[in-house]
Amino acid sequence: MTTDEGRDRLAEQLVVLPVYELVDVLRRVLPNYTEDNCGIRTELVLAEVTDYEDEPGLEVELVAWPDRDYYNGGLGIGQGLWEHGHCAKCDAGVVSNAKRAYCPYCGSRCGLT
Ligand SMILES: [Zn+2]
Repeated sequence: MTTDEGRDRLAEQLVVLPVYELVDVLRRVLPNYTEDNCGIRTELVLAEVTDYEDEPGLEVELVAWPDRDYYNGGLGIGQGLWEHGHCAKCDAGVVSNAKRAYCPYCGSRCGLT
């Protein structure tokens, strides 16, 4: 168990990262919280929520993990989460800094534009 101060120090390290580097850190952490009990699978993921002024409701998209093999070990384009798409397997809306990424829920490769 950590202290509030320890978690504050960790948060201070994370908050200075550009979003695509923060996503890479969380890619290494969040899958450790997957639960699979009695046929019900729960995956802890990062999501982006958008509220369009002229449309009802919120758009929720899962943050996809960049395909590091495709980018020769890199994280893809050093930009915000500006690439959008849909996972062909689970139909979740996904966003990423990269045009080639993996769905954080089902692990399928996604093409984003
Ligand atoms: Zn998926």
